[in-house]
Amino acid sequence: MHEYSLVEALVRRVEAEARKRRAVAVHKLSVRVGELSGVDPELFATAYETFRAGTVCEKAPLAVSRVAATWSCPACGKAIAKGAVLRCAACGEPARLDDGGDALMLDGIEMEVP
Ligand SMILES: [Zn+2]
Repeated sequence: MHEYSLVEALVRRVEAEARKRRAVAVHKLSVRVGELSGVDPELFATAYETFRAGTVCEKAPLAVSRVAATWSCPACGKAIAKGAVLRCAACGEPARLDDGGDALMLDGIEMEVP
């Protein structure tokens, strides 16, 4: 399962951050999942529930927020409507996918630093 290896990478990264800041516990994690990231938010959450036991994230609930894929014109910044031709009607530039629409991002870590 693709989501499982992503969760593993996420937990390893949180462990590294916690170590760097000498945190004693991690209380909460939040991630943003882009609509076109190829990540299934439900599978990701399920994989996290399985994986977090015995890790620094054991007591940290995960908040997953979805980021819709949106497109805009790189020249004039005009938003391109969903389902429309991916080209700006005003300048003819090919539309560009806005940030986050195809990414899995670690949004925040709440940790306890003594
Ligand atoms: Zn334009």
